[in-house]
Amino acid sequence: MKELEEKILKEGKLLGNDVLKVGSFLNQQVDTNLLLKMAKEVKRLFGDGITKVLTIEASGISFACAIAIEYGIPFVFAKKSKTVNLAGELVSASVYSFTHKTEYQIFVSKEYISSTDKILIADDFLANGNSLEGLIQIVEKCNATLVGCVVQIEKEYQNGGKVLREKGYRIEALSSIKKMTEKEIEFN
Ligand code: 5GP
Repeated sequence: MKELEEKILKEGKLLGNDVLKVGSFLNQQVDTNLLLKMAKEVKRLFGDGITKVLTIEASGISFACAIAIEYGIPFVFAKKSKTVNLAGELVSASVYSFTHKTEYQIFVSKEYISSTDKILIADDFLANGNSLEGLIQIVEKCNATLVGCVVQIEKEYQNGGKVLREKGYRIEALSSIKKMTEKEIEFN
């Protein structure tokens, strides 16, 4: 999406070698106009037939929510800790965090994803693919149908997207970074 790429070029900041900070418009402060346009683009890409959007807290929530509103369907977010209000049967998966460099468990109440659901997974970034893999495991453990995954930004030079596509999953990215250096960000 041209508008998303332009925003990344204007406001994105590189932290270290490969963490792109997009907190001014995407995952801390959120540009809601751009968010709604992204949700429309997701609907254009995937068409009808999705019954639920699944994401992971916290930075995937705004994107998943906007997509769900566009479709008029619910969204579900996997929690990163077992809180007292996570009752009933839980489905879990373990995820290695790209930003925290630690392994953690994600949990979803089984009652929110059923075998008749057609799930679209949404997240902010795709780097090595661990978050999407964890969410895919949740969908598979619930015997639901995975329609595909969509991310706002794929860092293509990391391997996640390639590995997941080779496994046969449909992975769409609204922007795809081919190369990122202090001087420039190059899109595909
Ligand atoms: P993966 O699991 O694909 O390795 O990494 C994806 C997750 O790590 C995303 O949910 C996102 O929150 C975080 N992440 C990965 N790369 C970046 C990045 O460059 N910038 C930010 N802000 N988060 C990232």
